[in-house]
Amino acid sequence: MEWFRKAKAGLTRQDKQDIPDGLWTKCGGCGEIIYARELERRFWVCPSCEYHFRIGHAEYIRLLLDDGVLEEYDRGLISGDPLKFKDKKKYPERIADAQQKTGLADAVVCGIGKIGGRAVSFSVMEFAFIGGSMGSVVGEKVARAIERAMTRRIPLVIVACSGGARMQEGILSLMQMAKTSFLLAELVEAKIPYISVLTNPTTAGVMASFASLGDVIIAEPGAQLGFAGPRVIRETIRQELPPGFQSSEFFQEHGFLDKIVKRTELKPTLINLLTFLSGPNSGVMEKTGSTLPMPGGLPESPA
Ligand SMILES: [Zn+2]
Repeated sequence: MEWFRKAKAGLTRQDKQDIPDGLWTKCGGCGEIIYARELERRFWVCPSCEYHFRIGHAEYIRLLLDDGVLEEYDRGLISGDPLKFKDKKKYPERIADAQQKTGLADAVVCGIGKIGGRAVSFSVMEFAFIGGSMGSVVGEKVARAIERAMTRRIPLVIVACSGGARMQEGILSLMQMAKTSFLLAELVEAKIPYISVLTNPTTAGVMASFASLGDVIIAEPGAQLGFAGPRVIRETIRQELPPGFQSSEFFQEHGFLDKIVKRTELKPTLINLLTFLSGPNSGVMEKTGSTLPMPGGLPESPA
């Protein structure tokens, strides 16, 4: 009976931060042994030290969206293999493995959901899909999520979790940074609010594009944030890095983050922010049986 699953040999530090699959698990923060059901009840936050275990796209959808419901769009977009890239595996094989492991076509899930009764264009990244890396599919889906927010005149919320651009697609993945950033500039012109939620980790090409361009940027405690990793920076500048470098807390101290929000407070915080940014009535669905706004979106709040 495998009631306590020990960490498997060869797991990386990142893997250990994922949702544990045994009945009991050891906290990555304080080392305490915790009953997994208790953790699940607390949204995978350690009751002793508030260490935030990494959770996946499905948990964020359940946590943040009303009734845990997302009307998904662009599910069928799948990546090509433009460079015929091969490292240890061919890129199409790597994609197929990730698809089987996660049940997703690529590393982001996008659609329309409601937060506190207010419709939002919602996207959430999945780290288990090739490190949440952004290739042409992730970039295109995020771009369409931004366009959907503009067309329907509803706020945009993106939960980021990514190791950066997807090297297997070379320059095509880097182009997604420009594409999403350009569209976010249009979103600003259209006066549609965008809240960026950073989770552990949000780095490199995703951090250097849409993740850092929110009107409001919030992060979970203790998330690793940044562009290049600490080892690369240390070796480049040949200096020791300050303690806590690249953590949410360090970013907030240096003015990059608006707020650090515990996972248990994420949804109420989003509801408050959306109300503040959109006006009290804008985007709230009437209970008329229709779950989505009509094409063209709801009228703007007169407030
Ligand atoms: Zn702990």
